Amino acid sequence: MLHSDRRFTPSLAPDPARRTPSQPDPIRFMRFCSECAHPVALKVPPDDNRLRYVCDHCGTIHYQNPKMVIGSIPVWDDGEVLRILLCRRAIEPRRGYWTLPAGFMENAETTAEAAERETLEEAGARIGLQGIFSLLNVPHVHQVHIFYRAALLDLDYAPGTESLEVQLFTEQDIPWQEIAFPTVAYTLKAFFSDAARIRAEGGDFAFHSRDITKPLRAPE
Ligand code: ZN
Repeated sequence: MLHSDRRFTPSLAPDPARRTPSQPDPIRFMRFCSECAHPVALKVPPDDNRLRYVCDHCGTIHYQNPKMVIGSIPVWDDGEVLRILLCRRAIEPRRGYWTLPAGFMENAETTAEAAERETLEEAGARIGLQGIFSLLNVPHVHQVHIFYRAALLDLDYAPGTESLEVQLFTEQDIPWQEIAFPTVAYTLKAFFSDAARIRAEGGDFAFHSRDITKPLRAPE
């Protein structure tokens, strides 16, 4: 029964190991029911209009929905220049590239708690959140990314297990060609653009939203 799924639209259930970044799975591959361990089938349930993995043994429909990725923009403002804390990734994807501290939201936590936790885990940094700054839809990888503006509470930071190093950067020093993800590049550019406008004209940071449809791994 290993290949029982192939009876049902096999092109929609490719081997995940063979997938390329430009050809992501429409839905995440599933072989067995997580409720009763019987094989699942890919089909459109009654009164639905999408393919789902359905267990004909126990009746469970395995819905799949986007994941939330939450992060922060940790800012150190010495009164003259703004610096942002970036982490160099120690894990794939995009190992060795720089990112804002961010990660998958856990069950039973709020978006604010997720931003604080990820910043502590990846950068060893304590922050004071200042509100949501950017929201990026990344539909082809089934993710929504949210970044909070945040003030670094002190300079006592250190790389966590998922980071090779952690460093403060001014806008001029940011390694733009080595940013891990388009959502991070977009957020950083929008942040420094807002900061320049505020410096020149006053005002406040805006909320920025965008749909990113290009492959997630390509830097902007
Ligand atoms: Zn089942």
